[in-house]
Amino acid sequence: MVQESERRVLVTGGAGFIGSHLCDRLLADGAEVLCVDNFFSSTRKNIHHLLNHPRFEFLRHDVTFPLFVEVDQIFHLACPASPVHYQRDPVQTTKTSVLGSINMLGLARRTNSPILLASTSEVYGDPTVHPQVEEYWGNVNPIGPRSCYDEGKRCAETLFFDYRRQRDLTIKVARIFNTYGPRMRSDDGRVVSNFVSQALNGQDLTLYGDGSQTRSFCFVDDTVEALIRLMETPHEVTGPINIGTPEETTVGELADRVLQLADSDAGTIRMDLPEDDPVQRRPDITKAIQALDWKPEVSLEDGLRRTIEWFSDLETVS
Ligand code: NAD
Ligand code: UDP
Repeated sequence: MVQESERRVLVTGGAGFIGSHLCDRLLADGAEVLCVDNFFSSTRKNIHHLLNHPRFEFLRHDVTFPLFVEVDQIFHLACPASPVHYQRDPVQTTKTSVLGSINMLGLARRTNSPILLASTSEVYGDPTVHPQVEEYWGNVNPIGPRSCYDEGKRCAETLFFDYRRQRDLTIKVARIFNTYGPRMRSDDGRVVSNFVSQALNGQDLTLYGDGSQTRSFCFVDDTVEALIRLMETPHEVTGPINIGTPEETTVGELADRVLQLADSDAGTIRMDLPEDDPVQRRPDITKAIQALDWKPEVSLEDGLRRTIEWFSDLETVS
């Protein structure tokens, strides 16, 4: 007999890269999971293994439209995250962040559920403060090709805090920094998935600019652990809280590591740096350490090994 679960958790964007790992984790913790997604930037593959799970339910739905369901907690992740996807239909991207957040906040209010927003380090834009602390207001171009994503998320954060001030909702805002791992799409254009699939296919790695720009890459299991812990914090803890690793690396170093770990003979080719590409990015995670008793456990080397392994299995299967 199926046991009644105490908690019904909604994960919007649950078929995506991070969302699908979050669904796995919530199910492992005993929750009942309602995954809502419109497959804008994902496919059914990420949740295929969950479709017959007795505590898992999938609903194909676009969060820019209202949603009427009964839930106890909401993780709001729906939004394309890779520049290639969020720039494909920028108006839809802003709508997803803004209207999607309004709809999910309304749902949270009606069901009296705590709600967590997957915000982003992109709210800092091309930061002039390094490493980035939560108090920094950012350096964002409001009219560039990345703005639909950056400003959409900034507006989503505004909405979360106004719902908190006006309606006393329990909100949690996580500012997620670059996350990578299994289930990234090989064609989603992000640097780790690009480099790993290129290295495995013996193609030269596409280095944008001179490769001196930095990012801090956090393995997906660590990110998911932080999201779970943030949701469990008391009402007073709202964030924003940076979730990421302080291990900073240049994109050029990342290319070298991927080539070495994938044992690839490929090289690198230089391509133009995309407009408004941030020069450096590293989170200050003091708040996450204090409020969540959390820090990333998986080193870049281990995480890349696991990602490469997953991508090689995929190549073998397909
Ligand atoms: P992803 O693109 O793999 O997942 C996003 C999911 O949201 C996809 O399954 C997509 O189909 C779904 N979606 C998009 N628009 C939707 C809509 N209107 N209605 C319903 N579903 C919709 O990206 P991800 O890397 O898993 O990112 C998940 C969340 O985390 C996003 O909100 C993203 O902004 C945030 N985030 C991710 C990173 C990262 O490095 N991966 C960094 C910062 C923030
Ligand atoms: N990048 C790169 N080659 C690629 C894809 C990305 O050099 O094939 C660079 C990109 O210009 C950026 C960094 O890698 O400086 C991270 O890009 P990604 O799209 O993964 O994340 P974001 O820029 O959103 O942090």
